[in-house]
Amino acid sequence: MPLRIVHFNDPILRAKGEKVAAFDAELTHLANEMVETMHEAGGIGLAAQQIGRTLQLCVVDLRESSEKFSWELDGARPPLDLFMPMAIANPQVTVVKGTPETVFEEGCLSFPKIRGDVVRPDAIEVKFKDQAGVPHLLKCDGLFARCIQHEVDHLNGVLFIDRMEKKVRASIDDAVKTLAKETKAAGKK
Ligand SMILES: [Zn+2]
Repeated sequence: MPLRIVHFNDPILRAKGEKVAAFDAELTHLANEMVETMHEAGGIGLAAQQIGRTLQLCVVDLRESSEKFSWELDGARPPLDLFMPMAIANPQVTVVKGTPETVFEEGCLSFPKIRGDVVRPDAIEVKFKDQAGVPHLLKCDGLFARCIQHEVDHLNGVLFIDRMEKKVRASIDDAVKTLAKETKAAGKK
């Protein structure tokens, strides 16, 4: 079953996720439900906080993307179909030294219809465990790296609006305030 996606400014979106400790059937079930929820909402990434859980767990699926990006997973370049949708637990992101910063208009499933430019480094390395607890090293750039940075921010209670330049943030401020009011009103019902 798809899960309910938490909208801004639910306080759980500001909570830091706890490390995943048990790589068991329950975790696999949760990851599968998150993938289903992400697909139904038409997103390319979803973090545990966005479905109301404070865990260092997110899911990503870029198979439908038309953006160009490259990747290396555990020293190889497997086709996306072989490892996506992917679950990422306990990620540790390192920015590749000397990589340029790029601007891209991001959206977020916790901010329906709100989009804005965010500057992020292009290339990263990320150590993580999959849902079975197997450790991996992923090197990627472009939208793949951006998506992971956006999701890992969620796991630490950081939102894309925090990363926007002042001018961009100001341009969406009315929409963000309206959304926060709607979320608060829905919570009182
Ligand atoms: Zn998001």
